[in-house]
Amino acid sequence: MPSEFTLIRRHFTPGTRHTALAGGDDCALIAPRAGRELAITTDMLAEGTHFLPGADPEALGHKTLAVNLSDLAAMGAEPRWAFLALALPDADESWVAAFARGFLSLAGRFDVDLAGGDTTRGPRNLCVTAIGEVAPGRALRRSAARLGDDIYLSGCTGEAAYGLVTYRRRVEAVEADVARCRYRLDRPMPRVALGLALAGIAHAAIDVSDGLVADLAHICEESGLGAIVQWSRVPQSSALATCSPEDRRRFVLSGGDDYELVFTASVAARREVAARAAEAETPVTRIGTMVAGECVTVLDSSGSEMTLEQAGYDHFR
Ligand code: ADP
Ligand code: MG
Repeated sequence: MPSEFTLIRRHFTPGTRHTALAGGDDCALIAPRAGRELAITTDMLAEGTHFLPGADPEALGHKTLAVNLSDLAAMGAEPRWAFLALALPDADESWVAAFARGFLSLAGRFDVDLAGGDTTRGPRNLCVTAIGEVAPGRALRRSAARLGDDIYLSGCTGEAAYGLVTYRRRVEAVEADVARCRYRLDRPMPRVALGLALAGIAHAAIDVSDGLVADLAHICEESGLGAIVQWSRVPQSSALATCSPEDRRRFVLSGGDDYELVFTASVAARREVAARAAEAETPVTRIGTMVAGECVTVLDSSGSEMTLEQAGYDHFR
């Protein structure tokens, strides 16, 4: 079995493009561009909680970084650096090589330098700290929604939650739809281009990791407002076509792990939002309005309030 240092040297020192000192010393040295704020986030994937033993290591490498880049996207920050702290039960080099492949290929796509990390023995745990840059005053905060703002959603939600279901039980859906939903779950693509395009235009934003309603509720809470979502406007993935209406509603409104962006912007900015989204080649849909009050209300096509499980995932409940 290779040593800790052999693993690091072989798999986690890929070379960097914009880091003053990476990998090998006690700390990395990074030089942010003049006049930028740093957006910094940490997200961890633990075996048994976020993924099952035996999960595909390359997909895990991708997802470990992707969920962090999604947080940067939700702030409108440009991803720049990542730090990778790994606990591994053993030095299985083929596992590490595949994990690194998944991680570094996504890092390369977004020009993110892997600038350092830590590698230790323990129950499998994958933790990334990602750092991005954003111009002062342009970050998209959860607390910045305003009364009367439009609410938008990128792409569509529900596919990842359905993907998880298809791993757990047999479903009726056609194979291509199952494959698409599993891919969404296993290899989410962070909406980095959209986040960047919206910085300074949109007001509040959040990425959908716990569920559309649960995450929009965070914007409501932090902004001191309520949200009304029109169910008829919420995009419906064709991959969920064979689900029962109850299941579909649950996946779309409460399913986690889609890593879409929910954001708000003033009504006057509609054309600008559409133009920026088109520039970022990302579909966005206007799904509702920020109102006085609190919490998220979803209205069906007859205008009646839909009852739904409000809460998203909570690790300790
Ligand atoms: P220290 O004992 O000073 O914490 P380590 O021996 O843990 O240093 O790490 C040596 C170097 O390798 C450090 O520069 C660290 O950032 C880097 N490193 C360790 N593990 C990883 C990893 N999984 N990915 C990237 N860099 C890593
Ligand atoms: Mg260390």
